[in-house]
Amino acid sequence: MFFAQVLTLFPEFFDSPLSCSIPKRAIADGAVSVDCIQIRDFATGKHQNVDDAPYGGGPGMLMKVEPVVAAIAEARKRQPNTHVVMLTPTGNKFTQAKALEYIEKDSVTLLCGRYEGFDERIVDYVDEELSLGDYVLSGGEPAAMCVLDAMIRLLPDVLGSPESAVLDSFTEDGMLDWPHYTRPEVFDGKAVPKVLLSGDHAKIQAWREEQARLRSLKRKASK
Ligand code: SAM
Repeated sequence: MFFAQVLTLFPEFFDSPLSCSIPKRAIADGAVSVDCIQIRDFATGKHQNVDDAPYGGGPGMLMKVEPVVAAIAEARKRQPNTHVVMLTPTGNKFTQAKALEYIEKDSVTLLCGRYEGFDERIVDYVDEELSLGDYVLSGGEPAAMCVLDAMIRLLPDVLGSPESAVLDSFTEDGMLDWPHYTRPEVFDGKAVPKVLLSGDHAKIQAWREEQARLRSLKRKASK
């Protein structure tokens, strides 16, 4: 079993996405366990504050170092080999290759920020800083859910057809997936490419590979 942990102020955020479709089945089948650890449980003081104003001034609040580091320590106690990932727009970009790398580990712990982000000293207690992309979310939870979903579908026996994940975009040499069609044969004057109806498997495969190659080239050129 793969052990995923999430350090968050909003564990309830994960209830719905983890109770549908592939993640739900993967959890039920014992391929993965996802445990949320509430960061606020590690805050001390009467008000259990997890945020404070930045030194030097400026807008917003920051995640405080003490409760976050204590929550990371708890995650490492529960899963001693866990790889702790801080979600931050300033981190390395998340890719399919990263998802494949993560599922080779025993456990991954995803640390979700809120407010204006983390006290910088927290970086010394994590193994990696990871960004979902060049945009700013209001919290790490949506980013963590994307990472969880991308990992879960790659775990052994989670997808109905093991071939699906191998044929997905970004898996083989970073190639994109080819175009797919299902019924009806014609929609709004747009017909399914004839080759797909030919029954000639070699021709179909050649067409698909060519389409994937063209798509990948087009994407590269538009970057
Ligand atoms: N002040 C930060 C900045 O500009 O880099 C943004 C903080 S953001 C409002 C609050 C939290 O959302 C971050 O600490 C992080 O956990 C999460 N977050 C926002 N955008 C993200 C992204 N692109 N990838 C991963 N996490 C992100």
